[in-house]
Amino acid sequence: MASLNKKTIEDINVSGKRVIARMDFNVPLKDGVITDDKRIREAMRTIRYLSENGAKTILVSHLGRPKGEFNMKYSLGPIAERITSLLGKKVVLAEDVIGPDAKSKAASLKDGDVMLLENVRFHAEEEKNDPAFAKELASMAEIFVNDAFGTAHRAHASTAGLADYLPAVCGYLIKKEIDIMGKALKDPERPFVAILGGAKVSDKIGVIESLLDKVDTILVGGGMAYTFDKAKGYEIGTSICELDKIGLADELIKKAEKKNVKLLLPLDSVVADSFSNEANKKTVDCCSIPDNMMGMDIGEKTIASFTEEILKAKTIVWNGPMGVFEFENFANGTRQIAKAVAESGAVSIIGGGDSAAAVEILGYADKVTHISTGGGASLEFLEGKVLPGIDVLEDK
Ligand code: AMP
Repeated sequence: MASLNKKTIEDINVSGKRVIARMDFNVPLKDGVITDDKRIREAMRTIRYLSENGAKTILVSHLGRPKGEFNMKYSLGPIAERITSLLGKKVVLAEDVIGPDAKSKAASLKDGDVMLLENVRFHAEEEKNDPAFAKELASMAEIFVNDAFGTAHRAHASTAGLADYLPAVCGYLIKKEIDIMGKALKDPERPFVAILGGAKVSDKIGVIESLLDKVDTILVGGGMAYTFDKAKGYEIGTSICELDKIGLADELIKKAEKKNVKLLLPLDSVVADSFSNEANKKTVDCCSIPDNMMGMDIGEKTIASFTEEILKAKTIVWNGPMGVFEFENFANGTRQIAKAVAESGAVSIIGGGDSAAAVEILGYADKVTHISTGGGASLEFLEGKVLPGIDVLEDK
């Protein structure tokens, strides 16, 4: 594993310095109004530290997918307003990213001031990690701070390229991700239990392979369990299944056996006659799902067997819901597993994306150790991959 002992904003003198800070302000908006400002609130600790310590802060983020063109539908205007109200200090928004307005606003910052550049993805060069674009961004600052974990698995100009021109350190969010997930992977308290779910096996192959070398137990639920069931020769009805991944699922089952990792599949499923909250449903044993029905959630026997493992655990990582939790009638499995994780007393790490949303919607967010701020990034981290946005940061 690459070094995760990275310098933070506290290890570098920011006073009086121009600091370009990559944040993740990719928040949901409806008609120009922020519907959930969690990501902005989470970023405030780093922003406050920079401001209170006399930095001249230039914030950078993407929002949505403007496809490399200026499109005011994706303007960071609402974000600047929200940071202003959370910080209690005016945060000006530049009209451009590396243009004359951004440069003149950056040049006139005073110690403690904070400004925001327009959406960095208004330039196609951002996602191409174009060196000339990164150099232009860097020309406005003396220090690069990366605190956008959600994009740390991407080598873009503002997430990695900037480090070619500026000393690079992380903010508090990335530091927390590295500390908690890094420790869990390197030196976990045992038993170490991984809970994997979600729609597809194909998205989670890398993480299963990598976790097979680290964990004691893997609990497989959600839609991906049916590809494993199919590999075992069970009847799965019309459940979601990746036919081209059955062989691989079989290999993973055998690898787990060889490595002495307990890999548990669902014992029963709540099945439905259509993919809808109002569908007719019943619970059946996993090996015998009727031809015309699909598995939508784990059943009570599975909940009991998974809970038993979860309550024994000292370290837990969870990625992917146990069923179609967006439909209330099929959210019980995910809810019960969230409850067990919350009550386990283990160090519990929830991957971002859907499992994070599930834990939050179901009301267990404050009872787990850590909810990762990045879905794809946390998966790649758990896979043991080197994340470019972290790799470029200076080692302590
Ligand atoms: P992922 O992004 O891979 O973690 O998958 C999350 C999605 O998996 C959610 O939208 C769930 O509704 C979906 N999902 C979970 N269980 C099932 C299932 N049994 N059948 C179909 N989709 C499922």
